[in-house]
Amino acid sequence: MPYERVLVDEAVTHMGPLGFPRCPRAAQKGPRRYRGTMEMRSDDLRMRLAQAGTAAAAAGLDAIVVTPGANLVYLVGYDAVPLERITALVIPAVGEGFLLVPRLEKLAALASPVGELGIPVVTWDEADDPYRMIADRLGGIDTIGIADDMTADKVLRLRDAMPQVEQRLAGAALDRLRQRKSPAEIEALREAAAAIDRVHARIPQLLQVGRTEVEVGADIDRMIREEGHAMVDFIIVASGSNAASPHHAVSDRVIQAGEPIVIDIGGTMPSGYCSDCTRTYSIEQPPQEYLDAYDRLLKAQQIAVDHVRPGVTAGSIDSRAREHLGDLAEFFIHRTGHGIGLVTHEEPYIMDSSDVLIEPGMAFSVEPGFYVENLWGARIEDIVVCTDDGVESLNTRPRELCIVPAGAGAGTGAGSGEQT
Ligand code: ZN
Ligand code: ZN
Repeated sequence: MPYERVLVDEAVTHMGPLGFPRCPRAAQKGPRRYRGTMEMRSDDLRMRLAQAGTAAAAAGLDAIVVTPGANLVYLVGYDAVPLERITALVIPAVGEGFLLVPRLEKLAALASPVGELGIPVVTWDEADDPYRMIADRLGGIDTIGIADDMTADKVLRLRDAMPQVEQRLAGAALDRLRQRKSPAEIEALREAAAAIDRVHARIPQLLQVGRTEVEVGADIDRMIREEGHAMVDFIIVASGSNAASPHHAVSDRVIQAGEPIVIDIGGTMPSGYCSDCTRTYSIEQPPQEYLDAYDRLLKAQQIAVDHVRPGVTAGSIDSRAREHLGDLAEFFIHRTGHGIGLVTHEEPYIMDSSDVLIEPGMAFSVEPGFYVENLWGARIEDIVVCTDDGVESLNTRPRELCIVPAGAGAGTGAGSGEQT
């Protein structure tokens, strides 16, 4: 059914005025919340910095430069505000690195774990050329690794300051550090998964014939915070034919009985670690054809999860899901999963042809689905962790299609407690 996408509440839809998704963190209302430092002890951070230097050397880079974002949080615990003024962590392959910050950001940097880390903090004043300062400190190097999320203006200014130095992407070297999680990181992801599971447990009471996706999304937005997240990252409430669009957000479409409602939600915990979980719902029973397809998806997801163990390739996990989907596989139009940590999407990507070997400590989603345009869709998503000898699913809610009786929903989700 055609409909107009209506942007009722930007905090709910996370859509900008032109209909493009906003940066999830930009959708946060109120004061900026910093990603936490719960498990970021100085010893851990020193080890990560040393590993980054080693990774630079192994990648043939003389130094790596990291600007504000998840890599900076991971390496020194500093959740810096991305500004037009450059803040840069510079890690040479050999020797000690330094953090370059605008003078007005110095106290903020020192208030983060950087203050206890002992890494030199170099400040620059408004009249200084911070790119020249980086070049002078690094001296005669040949290659420099640029973090993948550095903005183009900073990349080009750095190149102008050191035109003889070859710039390469440092993403692969940094990703290899971040993709294998420590026990403390896994515990943080476990807490995030438990929090989003509690939100899913409350969703049946929100589902009522006649409510719109926007209305349900607004309740979920509140619940994601109530259940312990510091930020809402995204909310997908895709009902009926909207379920055929994997990244649908919310719209003013009115939810009907007997149609699927794909609900994919996630947020960032005070620890800085993210949740991401999809369950599919229906008010009253959908057609048998849909139930049969969903049943096959359910088994495909289980088979893919069960396949996870050390030494298998990411591609083989993807293949397991596709094989079991059979003729439904042509409607499975995205990869099977993505790594998750300080951001929702990171390495390893669980996709066809990936020969990345799964290792203990890797955390990623397993989220097969099927999407039939103008008809319906479904997805089941869990975050799993590869253990020493198998797999642990961090999300534990039932994966079967959640069929809610008509009239069962309370409408506003007031109060907590699970409804079946
Ligand atoms: Zn998701
Ligand atoms: Zn996901």
